[in-house]
Amino acid sequence: MLLTIDYESWFAPSRRYDNLTSAERRELDDNFSQNALEPLLERLKDVRTSIYLVGEMVAWYPDLPQKISNAGHEVGFHCQVHRPLTTVADIEYDLQKSINWRTKYNVRGFRAPMINTIEAVYPILEQNNFIYSSSLYAPTGTVLQKSNVWELPVSTFPLLGHPKTIHAPRRMNLPLVIGGEFPYGSSMMSGLFPHLVFKIIERELKAGLSPVIFLHPYEIIPPQHWPSRFARDLLANPLLYPFTLSKSAFLNNLLRSFPISTIADYIIESNQ
Ligand SMILES: [Zn+2]
Repeated sequence: MLLTIDYESWFAPSRRYDNLTSAERRELDDNFSQNALEPLLERLKDVRTSIYLVGEMVAWYPDLPQKISNAGHEVGFHCQVHRPLTTVADIEYDLQKSINWRTKYNVRGFRAPMINTIEAVYPILEQNNFIYSSSLYAPTGTVLQKSNVWELPVSTFPLLGHPKTIHAPRRMNLPLVIGGEFPYGSSMMSGLFPHLVFKIIERELKAGLSPVIFLHPYEIIPPQHWPSRFARDLLANPLLYPFTLSKSAFLNNLLRSFPISTIADYIIESNQ
C-alpha cells in the first residue's frame, strides 16, 4: 500500500487561519510541527512513506525536509501555504514561492490541499519538475496520465461500479458519495471507521491493487491541549471532528500488516 502523510500544522483543516500572516501561523503552530517530526519518523522507521510538506513550515523549521529525507522517506509538496488552490494564478504563485526548497530537495510529488484541484494544475506541475500528483479521489488502481504527470488518486471503494470519466476536481463531496464511492483513503474515514478501512485495504491488496491512504501528523502525535485548542473550529465545522481522532492504533495495524511503499518508488517501478 502507498502510505502518505500530509505534513501540516494542527490548525490546517480549518480555513479560519488562511489569511493570517505566516508569522502568526508559526506562533499558532507553537513548535508542534518541529517537535512532532522525530516521534513520527520513529513510528515509521521500518517503512518508507511519502511525506508531503507544507512549504511555509520549511521556512519556520528549515531542517524538516532533510530529516524526512535522511530517514528514507519521500519529500513531497503539500503547497506552500495550506489553503484552497483552485485557480491557475493561485497555483502558480504557490509554486513560485516554494521553488527554492523544492529544487533543493528534488521534490517530485504533489498533493493538493483538501484533495481539491483543477485540470489546469497538471501542465503547471510538469513545468515545475513534478512527476506525479495525488490530488483526486478515485477508485484504487486508477492511474491517469495528464500532461507528463501521473495522477495517482487517493483511494475510494466504488460500491456502484466504476465512474466513467475521471477528471479534476474530484474531492470528497456529496456527489462523490452519492455516486457510491467510499473515500476510505481519507483520514476522515480511518478516524470514523478504522476497522472497516483496514478490511477494505486488506481486500484491495488481495485483489492486486495498491491503496493510497493519507494521515496527518496531529492524528498520530497529539498536539498539546488536544483537541480543546481546536474547539472553536470544531464548533464552526463539526465535519472536522474525525481529523482530531487518534489514528495511532490504526497506523500500528497498517505497519504490522501490510507492505508499504512511497508513491515515487511505485511510479518508478511501474514504469520499468
Ligand atoms: Zn492538508
